[in-house]
Amino acid sequence: MSDKDLISQIVEENKDEITKLARDIWDFAELAYNEYRSKDAIMRVLRHKGFRIEEGIADIPTAFLATCSVGSGKPNIGFLAEYDALDGLSQKACEVFETKVEGQNAGHGCGHNLLGAGTVLAAIAVKEFLERKQENGTVMVFGTPAEEGAGSKQFIARAGYFNGVDFIYTWHPSTYNEVSGVGNVAIMGANFHFSGIASHAGSTPELGRSALDAVELMNVGCNYLREHMIDQARIHYAYSNAGGTAPNVVPAHATIKYEVRAPKVSQMQELFARIVNVAKGAALMTDAKMEYEITMAFSDYVANRTLGPVLEEALKEYGAPEWSAEDYNLASSFLSTYNKTTMTNIRDELKMKFSMDNISSLLEKPLHSDVFSYNPYENKYESASTDVGDVSYVAPTANLYMATAGLGTPKHSWQNTAFSASDIGFRAMIRAGEILALASIKTARMPELIKDAKEEVKEKNGGKYICPLPEYVNPPINRY
Ligand SMILES: [Zn+2]
Repeated sequence: MSDKDLISQIVEENKDEITKLARDIWDFAELAYNEYRSKDAIMRVLRHKGFRIEEGIADIPTAFLATCSVGSGKPNIGFLAEYDALDGLSQKACEVFETKVEGQNAGHGCGHNLLGAGTVLAAIAVKEFLERKQENGTVMVFGTPAEEGAGSKQFIARAGYFNGVDFIYTWHPSTYNEVSGVGNVAIMGANFHFSGIASHAGSTPELGRSALDAVELMNVGCNYLREHMIDQARIHYAYSNAGGTAPNVVPAHATIKYEVRAPKVSQMQELFARIVNVAKGAALMTDAKMEYEITMAFSDYVANRTLGPVLEEALKEYGAPEWSAEDYNLASSFLSTYNKTTMTNIRDELKMKFSMDNISSLLEKPLHSDVFSYNPYENKYESASTDVGDVSYVAPTANLYMATAGLGTPKHSWQNTAFSASDIGFRAMIRAGEILALASIKTARMPELIKDAKEEVKEKNGGKYICPLPEYVNPPINRY
């Protein structure tokens, strides 16, 4: 029996249990750092399969590490499970019009229910494969909550949990099947607090020092800074304390929240330092005092170029999920839920992605039924960020995208929530599990390749992972 067939056989034996797990997590729809029922359901399945579990790692109650050693226990094979939902995206399963599940606000609009369960399937398949073939390895499943919150993987990385991991394969629900060469940008968030002196704004303004003026001047300074930064960088801000509501009082305290993004963590840190200088300048101009605290940070993510081709090989061996006529029908009925502007965007994106002008056949059967090739030198970044970035700065990491939803489905939408509990979503999740398992088995047998993949990480992090979060930042449990 080929490796692929043995993996498929193990997957077949576990398919129903994992589909139920994905559906349960979808029903629980728990928000960042509150995924208690979801992680319990996952841990129950893993424990039953013989995994040893350490709960609450890195001081995050809904994080865990499940391990199972086979034979000599080497190499260490890592998987990342996510299981958090998004607020405001409650939606009934498979319904083709917007309708909330009664009494529920959150929904799996990013498909993390599929992500978590699919990863668990891959881990179980690898463990049982190693046992049946009498090969070696330690399978490690990292339960990583709050990807949609302030993240957890960077805290788990800072605590050293990924240090001994030889390689990690993970995946994310998408509308395409591919190992993407496109990266995710690094991000840092901080609160800037300004303090001045309160005073009567009419009778004694000369005694007052306005913290609100300082904030406004900081924003003006940052808006001028935008001309002199790299194109792919982003600066966003929001007032969290605008200094009160009384115009006749000089505002003594004001706070502004900033988020800075740039392709590489080093570029992001450099830009953040310039923003701190602007804040210092604003404080100097207004005679206010400024303090800032970093609240969140992720490193950038780019697929490990040594692992990418192995994952792609496994993807090509299995191919896209095998869609049924009902799957195509369901996907095409969702296309009718988008307005004209969204449809124009969808058409433009599909033309670019598939390099073709006539996409009418795609829109008739809107499920990706093929796989895209991996281009490790694509060198593009999505302007979104993920905490997988920090994992990739510690251990070789590669990410697979699998079409769990119809072509054109926007991320974080009610349509995506509906797809995440459909046969389309479940079919793609099972396929993702098979592919991750096959890629892991292939890699475990290639110690030279693992060495190269680790060298690549060293080149990227300069020899040692440095967490972009200062020590004083703790996981913001129930504060985010
Ligand atoms: Zn996501």
